[in-house]
Amino acid sequence: MPNSKLAQAMDILSQDIMYLPGVGPQRKELLKKELEVSTWGGLLEYYPYKYVDRSRIYAISELTSDMPFVQIKGHILSFEEFEMGPRKKRVVAHFTDDHGVMDLVWFSGAQYVYKNYKVGVEYIVFGRPSVFGGRYQIAHPDIDLAKDLQLSEMGMQPYYITTERMKKAGMSSRNIERLVKTMLQKIATPLPETLPPFIVERLHLMSRDEAMRCVHYPRNAMDMKKARERLKFEELFYVQLNILRYASDHRRKYRGYILNKVGQEFNDFYANNLKFELTGAQKRVMHEIRDDMRSGRQMNRLLQGDVGSGKTLVALMTMLIALGNGYQACIMAPTEILAEQHLATIREFLDGMDIRTELLTGMVKGKQRTKVLDGLISGDVRILVGTHAILEDPVRFQRLGVAVIDEQHRFGVAQRARLWAKSENPPHILVMTATPIPRTLAMTIYGDLDVSVIDELPPGRKPVQTIHKFDNQMTSLYNGIRQQIRLGRQVYIVYPLITESEKSDLKNLEEGYAALCDIFPEFSISKVHGRMKSKEKDAEMQKFVSGETQILVATTVIEVGVNVPNASVMVILDSQRFGLSQLHQLRGRVGRGADQSYCILVTTYKLSDVTRKRIDIMCQTNDGFRIAEADLKLRGPGDLEGTQQSGIAFDLKIADIARDGQLVALARQEAQRIIDADPTCTSSQYAMLWNRLRQLRDTNVNWAAIS
Ligand code: ADP
Ligand code: MG
Repeated sequence: MPNSKLAQAMDILSQDIMYLPGVGPQRKELLKKELEVSTWGGLLEYYPYKYVDRSRIYAISELTSDMPFVQIKGHILSFEEFEMGPRKKRVVAHFTDDHGVMDLVWFSGAQYVYKNYKVGVEYIVFGRPSVFGGRYQIAHPDIDLAKDLQLSEMGMQPYYITTERMKKAGMSSRNIERLVKTMLQKIATPLPETLPPFIVERLHLMSRDEAMRCVHYPRNAMDMKKARERLKFEELFYVQLNILRYASDHRRKYRGYILNKVGQEFNDFYANNLKFELTGAQKRVMHEIRDDMRSGRQMNRLLQGDVGSGKTLVALMTMLIALGNGYQACIMAPTEILAEQHLATIREFLDGMDIRTELLTGMVKGKQRTKVLDGLISGDVRILVGTHAILEDPVRFQRLGVAVIDEQHRFGVAQRARLWAKSENPPHILVMTATPIPRTLAMTIYGDLDVSVIDELPPGRKPVQTIHKFDNQMTSLYNGIRQQIRLGRQVYIVYPLITESEKSDLKNLEEGYAALCDIFPEFSISKVHGRMKSKEKDAEMQKFVSGETQILVATTVIEVGVNVPNASVMVILDSQRFGLSQLHQLRGRVGRGADQSYCILVTTYKLSDVTRKRIDIMCQTNDGFRIAEADLKLRGPGDLEGTQQSGIAFDLKIADIARDGQLVALARQEAQRIIDADPTCTSSQYAMLWNRLRQLRDTNVNWAAIS
C-alpha cells in the first residue's frame, strides 16, 4: 500500500470517536468512561462477545423448547395482562406468523411495550423459545420492524458487552452495532495489514481489513471463526514477540558465569549424604540446569513441580554446583517460617559437610546480622537462606553464582532484577513454583523464563484421598479425626481467612478453636494465624512439628511449604471460599509420610455451579496441572493466583489464554522464528514488525509491564 494511503488509514483510526455520526458529547463520555473507547480505532477493537445467527427465519410450527435463539416474522394479534401479585403484572402479546400462534411475554416494562409495539404491524422477533402452559413463548424478545431489517444482508448479528450505566442512558448493544457499521462504511480505504505477508500467507490468515469487517459483521459462522482466529493470532503473536525480544535482548546484554564443573561439594553430597535415589524427573531437570549453568548465558529457569515432588532437593544440588565452582548461593522464601524450614532442611541434608549456611530474615538482627553480612562479603558464608531481606542494599556477596527463588508468584520481575546487582555479573536464577501453571499461560506470564517440570513424585507416596462433606456431617468427621489421632497421626484444620484483616473471619477461627478444645479434651491443639506475632506463631508451629500437639488450627498461613510428614488429615472448613489452587496447595501439606492421608473439604449445603465443579475436580484428581487447567477455565487468567502479583495484568482484547492454547503455541512458534532469524531485532526485512511492536508498546500500558 502506498505510504500516503497507509497514513490516511492510520489517521482515521486515531480520530476522536466524537466525529463519528451518532456519537455526541454525551455518548462520547459514556464510551470513554465505561468502555475506555475514545477513538475510531478503539471502537474497531471493541469486539463482539457473541453472535447470533440471523440468516434464517423460523416458522412457529418448527419450534422446539431446546432451541437456541431464533427469529420469527409475523404480527401481534392482541395483548393480554395477567396479575402476578400486588402491583406486578405480566404482559402477553399473542403473535402469529399466519401458520401458528405463540406468546411474547414481558414481566416488566408494560408501558414501554404498549407504546412501542402495535397490533397488526409486521415485526421480526428474536429470542430463546420455551414452553409454558402448552404454548411456545419468548420472554423479553428483541423486536425490530420487519421493514427496517434487510434480511439479505443479515448474517450473524454481533452482541457487544454494555454496562449498567450505558443501559440506563439508553445505549445498548444494538446502538454499538450501528455505530460500528457506520464507521466501517466511512473507512473506505482498506485497513493496513499489520502482520508480515509471509505469515499471512503461510498460515492462511484473513487480511486485517477483511478480518476487522468480518468480526463485526460475519456473513456466516465460518467467516466469523476465520476473522476471530486471525485477530486472536495477531494479538498473541505480538505479545510473544515482545516477550522473546526482551529475553533475547537480555541474553545479549548479560553474560552468565560459566560453571563448568559439577564440583567437589555436589559429588560428596551425592555419594555420602543423599539417602535416596533421585527420581527420573529430578535427574532430567538437573541436566537441564547444568547445561544452562555452563552455557555462558545467564540461567533464567522456572522449575515447576507439584507439592512434594522434591524441588527443594533440586534447588540444593543447583546451589552445590555453584559452590563447587567457587561461588556462593542463596535461596529466598516468601515467609520467615519457610525460610527457617529451608534452613533446617538444608542443614540436615548437608550434615557432616563443611559448608557454612546462614539465615537472613527481618528477624536476624544486631551482632548476628553483622556476622552474616561480613561472612557474605568475605565468602565464608557459602549458602544464604532468607526472605526478601536478602534484596536489601547492605546485603552484598563476594561472588553470588546462583539465586533460587521459592514461590515466584509473590515475587515480581523487578525484584528478580534486583538480585542481579548483588554481584559483578547477574547470578543464575532458578525460580521454583508449586502452583502448576498450564503451559500456555506459563509462556505468557513467565515467557522470558525457560521451563523445567518435575512431573513425577518420589516413589512410595500414597495419593491423598479427598472427600467432600457438608457442614451438617461434623459429628462423623470428628469421629474420623479422633480415630486418626489415636493411630498416632496429626491433623490440620484450616479456617478461611481470606484477608487476614477480616475481623469476622478471625472470630470464626477463635470460636472454632474454643469449640474444638471442648470436642477434643483428650488432645492438645495449636493455633496459628497471620495476625499473631512471628515469635508466637513459630512457637505454636514448633509444638505441632515436634508432635507435642495433635491438631493444628490455622488459616492459610500454612499454605506453602510446611512439612510435617506425620500429619495425615487436612480438614478445610468453608471450602467453598477457597480457590482451586489454594485448595490444592493446602492438600499438599498432607501425604508426605508413608501413611494413607485424607483431605476433607467441608462446605455449606448450598453451592454454586462453579464451586460444585471445583470440589468435584479436587475429589477426582491429585494432578496439579489438571487442577491448574481447570482453574484457568473456571476463573479466567485475570483471576488466577499469581498473575496479578507477577505484575502482568491481562488485557487481551480478543484472545483467551485459557481457551486459545493452540493459538498461543502457534504464536510463540512464529515469534520464535522471527527472533531466530533476526536476534537483534534490527533487520530491515522485519522493520514493520519492530515498528508495530513499538507502536503497541507505546499505546498499551500492560505491555510495558512485561518488559
Ligand atoms: P517440594 O519442595 O517440591 O514440595 P520437597 O523438596 O519438600 O518437595 O520434597 C518433599 C519430600 O520428599 C522431602 O521430605 C524430600 O526429602 C523428599 N524427597 C525429595 N526427593 C526425593 C526422592 N527422589 N526420593 C525420595 N524422597 C524424596
Ligand atoms: Mg517445598
